[in-house]
Amino acid sequence: MLIEKYSLGIGDRFGQEGNAQLRAFQRAEQNGAVVVPVWNKSFREHSLIGTKPQDVRVEADNAVSAAGWKHGYYVDADHIGMKTVDAFISASNFFTLDVADFIGQPAPDADVAAFVRDMAPFRGALRIPGVETAFEVTDAVLEKIGHHYLTAVSEAGRTYRHIAAAKGADNFVTEVSADETMEPQLPFELFFMLGAIAREKIPAQTIAPKFSGKFLKGIDYVGDVRTFEREFDSDLAVVKHAISVFGLPASLKLSVHTGSDKFSLYPVIRRALQKHGAGLHLKTAGTTWLEEVIGVALSGPSGLAVSKRIYVQALSRYDELCKPYATVVEIDKSKLPTPTVVASWNAAEFVSRLRHDQSNRDYSVDLRQLVHVSFKLAAEMGDEFRGALASAREIAGKCVTDNLFERHIRPLFLGG
Ligand SMILES: [Zn+2]
Repeated sequence: MLIEKYSLGIGDRFGQEGNAQLRAFQRAEQNGAVVVPVWNKSFREHSLIGTKPQDVRVEADNAVSAAGWKHGYYVDADHIGMKTVDAFISASNFFTLDVADFIGQPAPDADVAAFVRDMAPFRGALRIPGVETAFEVTDAVLEKIGHHYLTAVSEAGRTYRHIAAAKGADNFVTEVSADETMEPQLPFELFFMLGAIAREKIPAQTIAPKFSGKFLKGIDYVGDVRTFEREFDSDLAVVKHAISVFGLPASLKLSVHTGSDKFSLYPVIRRALQKHGAGLHLKTAGTTWLEEVIGVALSGPSGLAVSKRIYVQALSRYDELCKPYATVVEIDKSKLPTPTVVASWNAAEFVSRLRHDQSNRDYSVDLRQLVHVSFKLAAEMGDEFRGALASAREIAGKCVTDNLFERHIRPLFLGG
């Protein structure tokens, strides 16, 4: 199973937006870009909301058959490992093997020695076509990389073989993700990591490195866009070179896990993809949930009350909600509006704080991040939130479609 050149990971916390999300991909197709949807949901999201991987499969299948979508589509077991994979095996056909926790765990000396031996042909000045500077590779460098990455890659191999034994190797797409680590990977490290992945016989089709800069939940990139651009450009060159040198699948491409809405990076990513003729998998997740909160707020007075209540409850449960996301949210608590202030807002006032429109001076990165991590509260509301969402069906669906198409797909895959 080979993944298409362009794919977009979409999250759907409550499983109600499959049709609305797919409409964005149909709009892309009508405008000349085939981008395939990958519904992604992690173990953490499933457990916070009380859903099962099979629910995502049913949602995706139903959306695809209702829309008559003729291209590929996938259900991603997002950020799984040996501990969590089993529940996803039958429902998923895309597996994101998360090795971040194992990076840096020292590998056995014999394994490192074998790795250094296998990579010996690259000693000396390593030149990767498309990367300006050569990198000096010595045994010491290879040893260091081996110690740093081999445990992680062998863990990915164990998980990959476990899935392949259950599903058959041709029936799913494999991603290896290292994005949830502390340190970004340099391009030459990515090169040897791919070498290790190939040695482990993992047919990775997407690879998610950690980039420099901050990828906070639901808000724009925080960091130096020029640095990112150089890094991304080099990584594309590395992937292309690794495919031919290590015999990895020709469909191998970068996977950028964005935490949603890295708008300032989209033009840069688009330029680099065009320059290299490269494909991309871009993972968003929470952007759809935020559009649901917006849609509910816009649906009428009772909807607005529900959306406001999610925010006000989130304020009082701030620590609990932010804790699982400690490394990927940065909220200035002093800038969060108080319940009294929020009570006085009409729908437009609420939405202008929440919606990711940087041209609106009321837009609040603090409020938006807090609501981003508060979907658990909507899950706890149960039928009340589901009912509000059902009453907001039309407007919420429109928000979801327009957001995915206008803010994500258009700038990234169509330009302009
Ligand atoms: Zn990720």
